[in-house]
Amino acid sequence: MEKKYVKELFQFIEDSPTAFHAVDTMKKILERNGYQGLLESEKWKLADGGKYYVTRNGSSLIAFRIPSADFKGFQIMAGHSDSPCLKIKENPDMRVEQAYIKLDAEKYGGMLCGSWFDRPLSAAGRLMVRDNNRIRMKLVNVDRDLLMIPSLAIHMNREANDGYKYNVQKDMPPLYKMYAGGEQESFMEMIAREAGVKEEDILGSDLYVYNRMQGSVWGAGGEFISMGRLDDLECVYSSLTGFLDAEDGYGVPVHCVYDNEEVGSSTRQGAASTFLADTLFRICESFGMSGTDYRRRLALSLMASADNAHAVHPNYPDKSCPSNRPIINQGIVIKFSGNQRYTSDAVSAALFRGICEMAEAPVQEFTNRSDMLGGSTLGNISGTQVAVNCVDIGLPQLAMHSSYETAGVKDLEYLIRAAKIFYESSVEETGFGEYRIFRKEKR
Ligand code: ZN
Repeated sequence: MEKKYVKELFQFIEDSPTAFHAVDTMKKILERNGYQGLLESEKWKLADGGKYYVTRNGSSLIAFRIPSADFKGFQIMAGHSDSPCLKIKENPDMRVEQAYIKLDAEKYGGMLCGSWFDRPLSAAGRLMVRDNNRIRMKLVNVDRDLLMIPSLAIHMNREANDGYKYNVQKDMPPLYKMYAGGEQESFMEMIAREAGVKEEDILGSDLYVYNRMQGSVWGAGGEFISMGRLDDLECVYSSLTGFLDAEDGYGVPVHCVYDNEEVGSSTRQGAASTFLADTLFRICESFGMSGTDYRRRLALSLMASADNAHAVHPNYPDKSCPSNRPIINQGIVIKFSGNQRYTSDAVSAALFRGICEMAEAPVQEFTNRSDMLGGSTLGNISGTQVAVNCVDIGLPQLAMHSSYETAGVKDLEYLIRAAKIFYESSVEETGFGEYRIFRKEKR
């Protein structure tokens, strides 16, 4: 199973060079599994046993299915579709020395700049294209080695190994092509050609640079996996796989993927938006439920915010907390923080541990060093819109926000197993401070 999952994960990431492609990849998988797409602008008529998905901005997606109209709460697992990278600016062509054309690009999210140099890159994203009297979204992926950011030779910067401060404007415009004189095909003309549209019909674009390096399984025992965008497509893929494998329970399983986690989530389609709240409310509304019915179901809900976690680094073991030290291939990480940037607390951790026990998936814990400010993620941000019990989890990884990240083969299967049981479960508060996790009896 491990090998099958790794292969599928690599394919999933390869098909998803940007958040738009990740949503498109999920749409195709969901449709193959009988899920029906809903538009937010339409009236929803949901049915018992129905399987649905809805997207926002083409870069966030929520999939759910209705076991029966008298469902209990929602079992929500949330990940994110975006990863740190370079965003290609409008009018990006920059000529150098009548010899080269490079592209103007800026940072998207907290990227590790050094990891983008000296490796094959390309461009992908979405175009808004005029098509008769409509404007249509079209995805584009230049599926070949197209760009490179060459390092400066050590001879020209002898201090390069003594710590270097990257200036994205100066150091990181990707080299695109040789300039041959006269009128040249612009970058956007090339993109139009790749997309099979006319350049003058492109009215808008969101284009990004991505790492072309293939996924790799490595280590003496083949125990590691490396690829770009493991944060957070590894969790997204695991959640989706568990979601599709799960059998019906008493609750509504909700696979939720937000865009813009890497830039603070405060967009129309980010975790701070109303996307999840709107969707859950509309599910209840479609079955004629009242606001109270909706809130009662939220009280019966559990959310797992699934975003990768920092494993102890072999060269920097001192950077991890002395007490809680996640290790690759030793299980799903539950993340805690005193300032509640991670939402896990005794209740949500207990419920999630109970689910992992049923799934026979090991868990380990992450806390920050007390003298280091950690990152934030989806759970606490989303919780301001949809107030449900929430646990922050993730898979242990190294080199987070590098263009080529490293994780463990075993952990992938652990999360898939846990996600399946998570989606089959329901959680009930049976009294003050008293909870029950239950699943449907297997016939
Ligand atoms: Zn992340």
